[in-house]
Amino acid sequence: MSNYRAPEPRHEPTCRFCALLAGKNDTFDSVWLRGEHFQAMVSIGALIPGWTLLVPRDHATNMSDAYERSEFWEFAGAAAETVESTYGQVTLFEHGPSHSASLTGCGVDHAHTHLVPLRFSLEALARLEEPELRWEDCRVDEVRARANGCEYLYVASDFNGSSTQGSLARLEQPTSQFFRKLIARQTGLAASWDYKLFPMLEVSSGSAARLRAQAGATELESAA
Ligand SMILES: [Zn+2]
Ligand SMILES: [Zn+2]
Repeated sequence: MSNYRAPEPRHEPTCRFCALLAGKNDTFDSVWLRGEHFQAMVSIGALIPGWTLLVPRDHATNMSDAYERSEFWEFAGAAAETVESTYGQVTLFEHGPSHSASLTGCGVDHAHTHLVPLRFSLEALARLEEPELRWEDCRVDEVRARANGCEYLYVASDFNGSSTQGSLARLEQPTSQFFRKLIARQTGLAASWDYKLFPMLEVSSGSAARLRAQAGATELESAA
C-alpha cells in the first residue's frame, strides 16, 4: 500500500535511550547500525574500544523477549560480526531488571544487551568471583523462561546467535554495574569503573566511527 507507514516505536517520555533513538541528545553520534526493530550503539562509558549496546527501538525492561525473536538474532549477528572483524571476539552480557528504575539496569531503564570484545572469559570470571550467585548453564533463548520474572545476570563468552550458551544468575538483590566492575578490575581500570565519573568519551566516539565504517563496508561487499 502506498500510504503505509511503519508504526512509531513505543517511547517512554522520561527514558534517555528512547530520546537518543529518536535522534535527540546523541551528542557524539553513538548509533552505528540501524535496523527496523533494533539499533547498535557504542556505550558512552566504554572502558574497552568497540563496546556496543544492542537496543530495541520499542521501550522494554529487559531483553528476554528479544532473545526469542529471529529478527533480533539477524540484527545481533550482523552487529557481532562487525564488532568481531574490527576488535576481536565478543562477549555477550546483560543485567536484566524485572521492573524499571532497578539498580541492576546500571541507571538505564531501557533494555539493552552488551557486546564487548574481551580477551578473557568474563563468564568464567563471574562464576569464579561470585559463586554465591548460583550460576547455571543457560542457552540465551531460554533466559526468559529460566529467569521467570526475576532480575537476572546473563553472560556468554562465545557469541553463537540464538544458540549462544552462557551462564544465568537470578538475583535476589539488585546489583549495580556487576559486569562493568569485573571488566574494569580484570583490565586494570579498577579506578574508572564508574561511568558517571569517567565517561571515556574519546574511546566511545572513536569506536562509533570505526564500527560505522566497517558496517558500511560489509554492506557494500554483500551488495556487490
Ligand atoms: Zn526507552
Ligand atoms: Zn547495561
